[in-house]
Amino acid sequence: MSFFSDIGKKTTQATSKIAKETKLKMSINENKENIKELYEKIGKKVYESHVREEQIDLKEFVKDDCLKIDELSKKIDKARKEILILNHKKMCKKCFAEIEDDAKFCSKCGEKQTEEKTVFEKAEEKLNESDIAPENEKEAEIVKKELEEKNEE
Ligand SMILES: [Zn+2]
Repeated sequence: MSFFSDIGKKTTQATSKIAKETKLKMSINENKENIKELYEKIGKKVYESHVREEQIDLKEFVKDDCLKIDELSKKIDKARKEILILNHKKMCKKCFAEIEDDAKFCSKCGEKQTEEKTVFEKAEEKLNESDIAPENEKEAEIVKKELEEKNEE
C-alpha cells in the first residue's frame, strides 16, 4: 500500500521478467547452435556419400536430421513468441515487425491486426488438446482422480 512497497513489488516483477527473457534468449541461442551442428552433420553425410559413390536416397538419408531441425526451429519460434508476450508485444501477421500487443494496425506496414489465430497456432492448440484429452471415460475418471489428489496436497 505504501509508496515504497509498491516500488519493491515493481522491481521484483521487472527482475523476474528480465530473468525469464534471459533464459528464453539462452535457449534460443542453444537451439541455434544445435541447428548449426545438424547442418554440418547433414553436409558431411552428403559429402561422404559422394566420396563413397553410394547410390542412396539422399533425402531419406538426412531425413532424421531435418526433422530434428524442424523441431528445434519450432522451439525457437515459441521462445521468440514468449519474449514478445513478456514485453507486451506481438508480431505483425504480414511483415513480422514487432508491434504493441494492443495495436489494431501495424505501425510499420499498416496491416490490420486481426485476432484470428495462425494455422500454426491452431495446429499447436489441437496438439495440446489431444495431449490432455483422455481417450475414454475410464481414463477421464483416472485423470479426474489424479487432479483431485493433487489439489489435496
Ligand atoms: Zn506489418
